[in-house]
Amino acid sequence: MQTDIVIIGGGASGMMCAVQAAWLGHEVIVIEHEAQPCRKLNITGKGRCNVTNNCDVQTVMANLPRNSKFMYSSLSRFAPEDVMAFFETLGIELKTERGNRVFPVSDKAQDISGALINAARDAGVRIVCDDALSLIMEDGEVRGVKCRKSEYFGRCVVVACGGISYPKTGSTGDGYTLARQAGHTVTECTGSLVPVELYGECAQAMGLSLKNCGLTVTDNTTGKKVFEQQGEMLFTHFGMSGPLVLSASAHMHDIVKGKYTFAVDLKPALDEKKLGERILRDFSEVPNRDFGNSLGRLLPASIIHVIIKRSGISPVKKVNQITREERESLIRAIKSLTFDVKGLRPVSEAIITRGGVEVGEVSPKTMESKLVKGLYFIGEVLDVDGYTGGFNLQVAWATAYAAAQAF
Ligand SMILES: Cc1cc2nc3c(=O)[nH]c(=O)nc-3n(C[C@H](O)[C@H](O)[C@H](O)COP(=O)(O)OP(=O)(O)OC[C@H]3O[C@@H](n4cnc5c(N)ncnc54)[C@H](O)[C@@H]3O)c2cc1C
Repeated sequence: MQTDIVIIGGGASGMMCAVQAAWLGHEVIVIEHEAQPCRKLNITGKGRCNVTNNCDVQTVMANLPRNSKFMYSSLSRFAPEDVMAFFETLGIELKTERGNRVFPVSDKAQDISGALINAARDAGVRIVCDDALSLIMEDGEVRGVKCRKSEYFGRCVVVACGGISYPKTGSTGDGYTLARQAGHTVTECTGSLVPVELYGECAQAMGLSLKNCGLTVTDNTTGKKVFEQQGEMLFTHFGMSGPLVLSASAHMHDIVKGKYTFAVDLKPALDEKKLGERILRDFSEVPNRDFGNSLGRLLPASIIHVIIKRSGISPVKKVNQITREERESLIRAIKSLTFDVKGLRPVSEAIITRGGVEVGEVSPKTMESKLVKGLYFIGEVLDVDGYTGGFNLQVAWATAYAAAQAF
């Protein structure tokens, strides 16, 4: 099959690139090996799709811990405001929530993917279900793609295959194989924005979701705090997950036993003095109660036994016999519940892949390979990753737009 532009991967970046290229008059084929395009996009933002972050380019770059400079050119030409205008043009109403996170008003990720797919079809893009196996190259130039069912030829081939996280959505790392075939370097791929395995009693509180707690992560080798934020998290059988923990994971590297410690603040709205007063008040109401039965109003049930153990106070001690030192120890346990980090969950459970096609071998202006003419890389397949907040999709949109402008 012959066309102008062949895009491998009908995910966020591939579909954006297809729409933009078709709008510029190019003939486009998207090859997608899943039955439907945009499977991953449909599960983003817990099914609500955090489309982008309503902020300026500098702020986006500050939220890309790896290779942010590479992104400057493309972000400047397709900034968050342009992304928002693009979706609004497609008839999607957007809203900005806490942390400048942008979502569709409908809270449905499928509205975002549906709008992209419809825009592509309306612009004449052909979306074919096939599995790209290898690039067809000649004289240092790409000519097309060999797929399981057919061969597709075009003057430009775009690798938009995503990374290796959540492989059930179709992102199985094929983009790295294609990049290597073209002679590109692929940096080591691990997970970022991934749940964290911890030593300690997390499993005892499994299922407990804390809507507002504090988390501080300390690098014990330097004594420095590498992460400090408040938000939502979840205790699991292996450790912790939830938005706050996923964000923290992006700040931890080369994890070995004892390197990082998590300190959870179960009462971030109360400083130690206020928490002390609150505990005294609670205790004064039930002076003859056993300590083990006295924390029900202050803490969720499933974490109480952990806090009792960490406080070092006997659970059968009457609360009116608890000393000041013991109260201080209880306050410490609540304000700084520590766990040593064991490691990160596998990349398959990560929101985003850290690592990918070496950006030094790709033009930051056009996303074209510096090694093979006509070959482009966009989206998560590149060695760029962001924190939570819509920054990863912003990377997908901006790199897709840059490539489309260059065809
Ligand atoms: C659970 C979850 C929630 C997320 N939430 C958010 C969020 O709210 N906001 C945000 O900014 N980011 C979020 N992300 C990250 C975001 O989804 C990715 O950054 C984005 O999807 C990357 O786009 P992409 O086009 O590069 O890759 P993908 O969206 O992964 O698309 C790649 C496509 O290529 C196809 N493909 C792969 N190999 C082949 C092949 N050989 N032949 C044919 N087709 C192929 C795949 O099937 C897939 O459809 C989330 C990720 C996950 C896993």
